[in-house]
Amino acid sequence: MFNNGSNKVTASQQVIKETNLKRVFSLIEKRDGISRAEIASLTGLSPTTVSSLAEEMVAKSMIYEAGPGELSTSGRKPILLKVNPRGGCIVAVDLQPGSFNLGCFDLTCRPVHEINIKIQDFRNLGNMVCSETEKIVKECGYEREALIGICIGAPGIIDRSRHRIVSSTILPIDRTSAFYDEITESFPGIAVDLMNESSLSAYTEKVFNKELAGIENLLFIDVHEGIGAGIIINGKIYEGADSLAGEFGHVSIDVNGPLCKCGSRGCLEVMANIPALVKDVETTHGKILVDDSPVDYDKRFSIIANGYKEEGRFRNEVETTANYIAYGINSAVNLMNPGAVVIGGKIKLMGEGFLEKVRSVINRIGLYKDRDMKILLSQYNGNPVTAGGARHIFNELFEVSE
Ligand SMILES: [Zn+2]
Repeated sequence: MFNNGSNKVTASQQVIKETNLKRVFSLIEKRDGISRAEIASLTGLSPTTVSSLAEEMVAKSMIYEAGPGELSTSGRKPILLKVNPRGGCIVAVDLQPGSFNLGCFDLTCRPVHEINIKIQDFRNLGNMVCSETEKIVKECGYEREALIGICIGAPGIIDRSRHRIVSSTILPIDRTSAFYDEITESFPGIAVDLMNESSLSAYTEKVFNKELAGIENLLFIDVHEGIGAGIIINGKIYEGADSLAGEFGHVSIDVNGPLCKCGSRGCLEVMANIPALVKDVETTHGKILVDDSPVDYDKRFSIIANGYKEEGRFRNEVETTANYIAYGINSAVNLMNPGAVVIGGKIKLMGEGFLEKVRSVINRIGLYKDRDMKILLSQYNGNPVTAGGARHIFNELFEVSE
């Protein structure tokens, strides 16, 4: 009966309503307390439309009335609308060698709880993420229906269109792993995304680092077992034509250097990653032991970092690494012209002395000596991969490109 144009009108009205709902919701989230009148004046929507959208979101528990705000000119205190943190949750996963972190975030993207799960066999990854997601959502006091999205951050090359990890130098996983499909099958109808971990960390810096206020073009260098970069251009994650941007670890700094897994020579990942640094130190100073006993690799790295920071030990090896990384950063800066470079990952344990060395090399070899480009260590104390993942899902669901 209604299979004529009227259906189309209804459909487009629905789209407009959805878009407006997203606009209003993301504005409420950004402002953390805003009146209906202010929403109407900022969005250009009519007060009636704003009121009915607000009513819909209150009914869905997405927002709540937070009581009166400051006096308005009319003398009446307007009711402020705020996002209801309990109105939904997002789970974000950070894949690592031998384990994964799984964080639950509320509807304002604040972390509620994060756990580390050991994994022996990565063929079980999909199942394990699903069952641990069920558990953490419940433990954090949410109904299963409150889960609105899951983001997985992974170190490696990711085929974004097929949602597969193509290859990873540090995870025993390749494109045959269908963990993403297993997750979407277990949680139908919710947003699931697989992203490069460095992109997510870069995004976290952009959102949370106050020193980066107003900087829309940012390069985040992630140095741990692998080396990657996250690139933010015009405030958004830049992934490149095939989502392969940010493979900073395979920027070569020595064409005659050691062979890399990728086939090139002298890649930063073989010259300057954390294992290369630990090996360098141990080649010169002997195996690092605690009470004459061997300790795991993370412990050895933290002993090197503390020795360097507190007593200036291992200076030669640490500053050689800083020098390599600075040459890599300088090439990237010449290509991209970022407003800031942030160095994160495990290497930030090396502290300000390491950063100073990187800065001094870049100041010496950089093209524009008096440019006001910030070079900082990452300031984020939580897990930047899960925090960026939660924020990424939130934006995918609610941000409206103007
Ligand atoms: Zn390489």
